Amino acid sequence: MTQLKGKVAIVTGSSRGIGAEIAYTLAAAGAKVVINYNGSKESAEEVAKNISDKGGNAVIIQADVSKASEAAQLFDQAMDHFGQVDILINNAGIMMNSLIKDVSDEDFTKMFDVNVKGVFNMLKQASTKLAENGSIVNFSSSTTRLMMPGYGIYSATKAAVEQMSRVFSKEIGERGINVNSILPGGTNTELFKEGKSDEIISKLASMSAFNRIGEPEDIAKIVLLLCSDEAKWMTGQNIGANGGTA
Ligand code: NAP
Repeated sequence: MTQLKGKVAIVTGSSRGIGAEIAYTLAAAGAKVVINYNGSKESAEEVAKNISDKGGNAVIIQADVSKASEAAQLFDQAMDHFGQVDILINNAGIMMNSLIKDVSDEDFTKMFDVNVKGVFNMLKQASTKLAENGSIVNFSSSTTRLMMPGYGIYSATKAAVEQMSRVFSKEIGERGINVNSILPGGTNTELFKEGKSDEIISKLASMSAFNRIGEPEDIAKIVLLLCSDEAKWMTGQNIGANGGTA
């Protein structure tokens, strides 16, 4: 198994869902982990406690990554606590589904603020503060490949993340840092399940080669691989993590 002993990772939005699972997986591989949350303090505390109960090392830090000042504080507090940051997982994200004609200005702005500006804010911090030879994984979505009605603005935010990642990989590569985007398909979390009937979930599951939706563990294992020395030559890529859905 990939070893991350001595490494420090920030996982944005790791109070719940895929981010929490990534925090567990990186901690199990030996990394010290910063659990970032925005509103879910109790869940973040529980994630940190579960890690320390297993002998790992985690700290929780509140920050709304869509705000530049809070993203800077998140990075600085992580460095104050652990001395360095080697791995940045830009997982925090939100999704509101509507046909483009029905999307409110407010929801458009909210999704771009968290999903795009949040990643941008953290990449800016990483450009000077992430340790040499580190790794960055940004979260896109397989919806950028599926053209599903109702996902227009969410997909647009994730397409922006993919393009930023590809360019940023060339801007930061001279420091030995690899940057990739991961594109999960439907994955068993609150974000995915909210507002979907069992019938819709079964239909989406049937689009994968394995006739099921993803579990957070499926995604976390790929994130671990992308942070490993073995994947260093992989950079600037947008990687589907969707059981063959798209
Ligand atoms: P989730 O269960 O809704 O969890 C979202 C996490 O993001 C929470 O920990 C939340 O923290 C955090 N967050 C939201 N806004 C934030 C902000 N402004 N600043 C900091 N943290 C913030 O979502 P998920 O399903 O695990 O999704 C994780 C990522 O995968 C997202 O980027 C999503 O777009 C992407 N994705 C998910 C799926 C899927 O099917 N689940 C598919 C493709 C891509 P608080 O609760 O503390 O606010």
